[in-house]
Amino acid sequence: MAADGARVGQRTDRLRTLKRGEERFRPLLEHSFEVIALLDRAGVILYTGPSTRRLLGYAPDELVGRNALELIHPDDREAIAAALASLLAEPGESGAAEYRLRHQDGSWRWMEGAWANLLDDAAVGAIVGNSRDVTDRKALESNLSYLARASKLLSASLDFDTIWRNLTELAVPHIADWCAVDVLHERGVFDIAAIAHRDPEKLALVKEYREANPIDMSAEFGLPVIVTTKRPEYIPLITDELLVAISKTARDLEVVRSLGMTSALSVPLVVRDRGIGAITFVTSDSRRRLTETDVAMAEELAARASLALENATLYAEARGAVALRDDFIAVASHELKTPITSLKMYTQVLGNRTARAGDERTSRLLAKMDAQTNKLTRLVNDLLDVSRMRHGRLEFYDEAFDLGEVVAEAVEHLRLTGEEREMRVEGEAARPVRGDRDRVGQALTNLLTNALKFSAPSEAVVVRLTPGTAEATVSVRDFGIGIEEEHQRRLFERFYRVDDPDERTYPGLGIGLFIANEIVTRHGGVMRVASAGKGQGAEFSFTLPYERGTAGGTDTGDH
Ligand code: ADP
Repeated sequence: MAADGARVGQRTDRLRTLKRGEERFRPLLEHSFEVIALLDRAGVILYTGPSTRRLLGYAPDELVGRNALELIHPDDREAIAAALASLLAEPGESGAAEYRLRHQDGSWRWMEGAWANLLDDAAVGAIVGNSRDVTDRKALESNLSYLARASKLLSASLDFDTIWRNLTELAVPHIADWCAVDVLHERGVFDIAAIAHRDPEKLALVKEYREANPIDMSAEFGLPVIVTTKRPEYIPLITDELLVAISKTARDLEVVRSLGMTSALSVPLVVRDRGIGAITFVTSDSRRRLTETDVAMAEELAARASLALENATLYAEARGAVALRDDFIAVASHELKTPITSLKMYTQVLGNRTARAGDERTSRLLAKMDAQTNKLTRLVNDLLDVSRMRHGRLEFYDEAFDLGEVVAEAVEHLRLTGEEREMRVEGEAARPVRGDRDRVGQALTNLLTNALKFSAPSEAVVVRLTPGTAEATVSVRDFGIGIEEEHQRRLFERFYRVDDPDERTYPGLGIGLFIANEIVTRHGGVMRVASAGKGQGAEFSFTLPYERGTAGGTDTGDH
């Protein structure tokens, strides 16, 4: 007992000394950026300096006698208790940590603290701790990582609905308890594009209120003004008077009161310099007031969303333009077909007449005209094929045929149309393949005409047939201008042409390879391109599966 009394006496002495010291150091303690505290071994606060009032809102005496752990955020309490325990393990031991402390107003402040065990120090006899407020730094760190996440999520989509949804989901609960995205339609009204609430039950109330109170486009505040001025509106504290002022009916007032809103913020969504809508953030259940930092954050989020929306707009426009182009091609090629067929017929009639009349000069000119009409027919047919492929309307026959024959016919056909270049055919397919004979011929002719087109007249073109186990391979090799690696991957895309300023321009629409590749793919084959680069020639090859169950090879062709 006596010993206890002596200890209490010692402590009182110490505190007295401290008080005296405090008087001397008051200006220093008062202006300190840190919360200074002495704790006993149980964590009970023996002393805190006057800066506590400024930093945490408490009068120092208010805290003396309370256990420091009570002020620590429940999520951090365990870690701090453990730190305290290890601090007690040894005199002179020190430690540091980041943790949250309760401000007198109920909010949580992030602190960075350091402590030392000076219990054995006769002059101090306590755990000494000092902690500074790092809430702003913490908020900045978390905001930065949040914004990085937001950018990633928002830019991952080119679909408007997904962007709206992602936006509200990003906002709740990071910035607010609920969030709505309103979009201004061309017809001049606002529609809720997406809405999220921490409490799904409240969501129904928000919707009810909005349905009963459509946005008044002539209002002097709110969404119409935000969209026109492209400036945010921020209500730090929503008072009951405000609710009364905005409610038209008793039910409205009842609804808005039950929403329990604390503060609200709307920021504009701007695309190409035009306000297209707004994101509204509201705090309610958390009782948190939106701060200037939240305003800045919300504006940042809106800026990132605007970027994503700009991309989505560009994408939608590009898609629209492509659809328009495709529709135009479909109509134009269809319309061109009839006059070209007539042209061909009349040229032939004229050709026959002049041949009968023995007018050789005119006959020759008419033959050239006929050849040009054939080229025109091929181009128009190719365009029609592209349109049909897009709509999945290209029909294919299915029969077993001899690939060697198709190769020979394609070469022969080119010769008949006046091609005098050397075309060598090597190898054989060994077994019949299955598919649409004419379409395969068309694919091969495309490769052959390209090989001839993109190589010098003196160079040969080699067609090679190679038998495999389950499929045959046809390759067309030329020794011409070659293709650089970067283009090889894209050659089979629709309308893709290599644009090389060093090369002369070759005529073409950039659809031959697209069609050929589609045909081969539809047959279950694969088309490939190989070229060592510019000036190194090119080899296009494709595979075609063998007719099932045909004799020969090491298997039956079954996979
Ligand atoms: P095009 O009608 O333009 O020839 P293709 O789809 O048949 O259309 O070919 C697309 C592009 O691929 C061509 O414009 C050309 O740049 C390149 N290409 C095709 N075949 C060859 C080849 N054998 N050698 C070099 N370049 C080729």
